[in-house]
Amino acid sequence: MSTERIRKIINNKDFTKENLSYLISLEGDERDYFLKQVGNTYTESLGKKVYFRGLVEFSNFCTKDCYYCGIRKSNTHSERYDIDNKAIVDAAIFAHENKYGSLVLQSGERSDKAFTVRITSLLKKIKEATNGELGITISLGEQSEETYRDWFEAGAHRYLLRIESSNQDLYYKIHPKDEKHNFETRIKCLKTLQKIGYQTGTGVMIGLPFQSYNDLADDLLFFKNTNIDMVGMGPFIEHTETPLYEHKDALWSLQRRFDVSLNMIATLRILMPDINMAAATALQAIDPMGREKALRYGANVIMPNITPTANRKDYTLYENKPCTDEGADDCANCLSIRVEMAGREIGYNEWGDSKHFFKRQ
Ligand code: SAM
Ligand code: SF4
Repeated sequence: MSTERIRKIINNKDFTKENLSYLISLEGDERDYFLKQVGNTYTESLGKKVYFRGLVEFSNFCTKDCYYCGIRKSNTHSERYDIDNKAIVDAAIFAHENKYGSLVLQSGERSDKAFTVRITSLLKKIKEATNGELGITISLGEQSEETYRDWFEAGAHRYLLRIESSNQDLYYKIHPKDEKHNFETRIKCLKTLQKIGYQTGTGVMIGLPFQSYNDLADDLLFFKNTNIDMVGMGPFIEHTETPLYEHKDALWSLQRRFDVSLNMIATLRILMPDINMAAATALQAIDPMGREKALRYGANVIMPNITPTANRKDYTLYENKPCTDEGADDCANCLSIRVEMAGREIGYNEWGDSKHFFKRQ
């Protein structure tokens, strides 16, 4: 086994695209060595704390048609739902009472006035019901600057908008090439979010058809160059009722997608030591201990699903989504044990904001 190159890259912080691509593609003993190095050292600078964000996937209505996603507009087999504000506020109260510190509100993308106004009032209600103590992250897709501002003023302070792939050609292989799915607009939205003052998060899917290690290295450099505060990235998992399914034979094995996802997390942790990084739910769809493994190698945020159980099975971005038949309590309990097993501490009642965000202010 040769570890010389890995050691040199880490010690000299020699993060060229070529070196990043090399780290992302590691296999076997070298990979084990690399992951161990990152796992042993990164908590020294970032601390051992892991922050919980209660995730409410409150609606699967979507106006977009991303080729990979099970709740895309054209999937007529998707059973649509929209949880009412009262049930969402109740889920927020559950998160608050269970000392989660923060909430994530996520849904399909809609930008009609009724929807944007509803979210503004919902955010205010959540703040009120939790004495302003619950941090709020939202992930509601591309919106106008005015809408982003309204939501910020109503109490959301973090926003997640994955770029999905920073390679524009690849972006248009996984999205229709039209007004509604525009790469430049996505980039512009990220800049607007940063300008308004959100802690801004992005991310990519790993193991997409047509994607190379060099693309993934570029994704990491994109996060760095865009000065992003938070990243959520995880394996792409094919869904039979989506257009991308026709390329299933060109995909890496699920295990390889999982392994490369952990390599990406570890590599990004050394590239951007002070950002927040989520252990994506999709990791657990491949490996029951997937999220805990991510915590060992660089992730510091985990998102227990607190969506009302009756609706969970219909937020099927991909098949075999984990925790779809558990209540919020089950998820909370199993997660706290798992976090401790990964040698980490839970930051109860803390917002767990991105350290990077405060440094770039
Ligand atoms: N609609 C919003 C948006 O697209 O930004 C937020 C919700 S969307 C379902 C959240 C994320 O799910 C997307 O950014 C995408 O990366 C991920 N996703 C969708 N389909 C997926 C799949 N088949 N495998 C893995 N992740 C997927
Ligand atoms: Fe809609 Fe988001 Fe799925 Fe795209 S990824 S189809 S915007 S929910």
